[in-house]
Amino acid sequence: MHTAMSETMLFPLSGRRVWVAGHRGLVGSALVRRLAREDCEILTAGRDSLDLRSPDQVDLWMKNVRPEAVFVAAAKVGGIHANDTQPATFLYDNLMIEANVIEAARRYGVEKLLFLGSSCIYPRLSPQPIPASALLTGALEPTNEWYAIAKIAGLKLCQAYRRQYGCDFISLMPTNLYGPGDNFDLQQSHVVPALIAKAHQARVTGAVSLSVWGSGTPLREFLHVDDAADGIVFAMQHYSGETPLNLGSGEEISIGDLARMICHITGYSGRIAFDITKPDGTPRKVVDGNALRTLGWQASTSLETGLRQTYRWYLDHAGLSGHTGTSGPRRAYG
Ligand code: GDP
Repeated sequence: MHTAMSETMLFPLSGRRVWVAGHRGLVGSALVRRLAREDCEILTAGRDSLDLRSPDQVDLWMKNVRPEAVFVAAAKVGGIHANDTQPATFLYDNLMIEANVIEAARRYGVEKLLFLGSSCIYPRLSPQPIPASALLTGALEPTNEWYAIAKIAGLKLCQAYRRQYGCDFISLMPTNLYGPGDNFDLQQSHVVPALIAKAHQARVTGAVSLSVWGSGTPLREFLHVDDAADGIVFAMQHYSGETPLNLGSGEEISIGDLARMICHITGYSGRIAFDITKPDGTPRKVVDGNALRTLGWQASTSLETGLRQTYRWYLDHAGLSGHTGTSGPRRAYG
């Protein structure tokens, strides 16, 4: 069955039971902050009580808790190095999490589900800004293809469940996110937290240079996670359709310029050394966010403001003693 639902039907969260799967992660914790402004009941489960990779545990949780709306923000995530070196974990964990949550949501009649993917689902050499129509038109970026394949499967599950069962499941593909609550561990992290931690450390220790991976020429679009959470809630309320929505800021910068901006913000005035033994990843990745803009949403935090706020958060939570931050892989399973 293919539902002929209006793509802009309003779905208010007020009065509803809303499960944020992955509420301890970067996006999930921002979603919980954002949802506090909606008049809804926020449901969460800790990793100790619910392993989202287990079909039985997810089924039992859904049966007992009966959410009416679900945000799938749970994922095994990481930066270019983590993706490249743990392919099995990135593929298996993400496939299991999304398959379990989406199937249980169907089984227990969840009214609406929003699945979060990533802009890395698009081919490495997509037209820029990347339209949703670029999906599956070319080869993926090899450094994160395992994660990308899992996320493509997740968005396809949403499309398939909509077609076969009439489920109102949508998916959203955010661009590179950053902000408070990010993972600052250098082996696991994305570029923004990595450079904040490294530049801070370089200033504190008086290092002569700061190592930046790759050539510095790749272009990336960055979105503050509180803007992302606002866009995600907006999409849940205003969009119903099979086509994934892109979520971006439209603000693009080279890795070299990003490094210079972070050095300025953290007060590090030494030399930037580009380490070309490390991978660049995809040369350019900026999403076409027009569909969401047409529905009435856009980002409001400038990159510089967002980076300053993230650095303050880092100082308050991880950087006080000059060490580089939290350790161990960040998983947002629960
Ligand atoms: P990507 O957008 O999937 O490639 O993920 P990342 O955020 O991990 O990397 C973005 C770009 O920043 C890549 O070109 C990296 O090589 C570059 N980069 C520069 N320094 C670092 C660093 O210290 N850590 C990470 N993760 N990336 C870095």
